Amino acid sequence: MTQSQTTPLSADSPHGLAAVAQEIARACKEARRDPASVTLIAVSKTFAADAILPIIGAGQRVFGENRVQEAKGKWPALTQDHPGLKLHLIGPLQSNKAKEAVALFDAIHSVDRASICEALAKEIKSQGKQPELFVQINTGEEPQKAGVAPQDADTFIAACREKYGLAISGLMCIPPVDQAPAPHFALCAKIAARNGLKNLSMGMSADFATAIQMGATHVRVGSAIFGTRTAPHA
Ligand SMILES: *Cc1c(COP(=O)(O)O)cnc(C)c1O
Repeated sequence: MTQSQTTPLSADSPHGLAAVAQEIARACKEARRDPASVTLIAVSKTFAADAILPIIGAGQRVFGENRVQEAKGKWPALTQDHPGLKLHLIGPLQSNKAKEAVALFDAIHSVDRASICEALAKEIKSQGKQPELFVQINTGEEPQKAGVAPQDADTFIAACREKYGLAISGLMCIPPVDQAPAPHFALCAKIAARNGLKNLSMGMSADFATAIQMGATHVRVGSAIFGTRTAPHA
C-alpha cells in the first residue's frame, strides 16, 4: 500500500512525507514502474521521537538510521508502541556492533567486508533472525567512504554467499556528492544484475527520482521528509 492510500495528508502538513510520496509516484509512472516496487525508507537520523511520531501517524512504516547507538536509544520504545514498523541500518557497521544491529534492525545496508560478514553470520545464527542484507558498493571509489570497490564486488558477493552463508538481497550505493548520480546508480544496477540481485538501495533527498529511473527498489530519504538536520552527523 502506498502512503497516499494509507492516510491522505493535508497540504499544509508540517513535514514533507506527502510530497515525497507524490514524487515517488510520479517517478514510477514516468519509468513505467509499479509504485509498490519502491520502498520509501524515511531516514530519521538526528531526529527525536517527537519528530518521528507524526511521520508514523501519517502511515509511514519503514525507517532508516545510520548509527546503531542512536537507533538503540530511540527505537525500542517506538516499535513497542507501533507494531509493524521496520527499521533499516543505512550507516557503516562495526563488527563489535553486529550483535546489537541484528537484534534491532530488519535490514542492514552496509555489508562491505569479511569481518562484518563473519560477525553477521554468527549473530544471524545465534539470534535466529534474518535481516535483509545489502552489500554497499563504493561506486565512486572514494577513500573516505565505506563500501566494496566495483572491481571487487563480484568476488565479495560470492564470498558472502559461499563462505559466510549470507543471503544477500541487494546492493546499496551513495554516489559522490560532487558528481552526477546517474552513472553511479547505473553501475550499481549493472553489478546487481550480473550477480542475480534484484534489490537496489539508492537515492536520497536530492536524487531519489533519478534513482527510481535507474531501478532503485529502496530509496533512503531524510531531509525531504523531516527537514534540514542541525545535528553534526550528516
Ligand atoms: C543521511 C542518509 C540518507 C538521507 O539523506 P538525505 O539527503 O537527508 O535524504 C540516505 N542514505 C544514507 C546512507 C544516509 O546516511
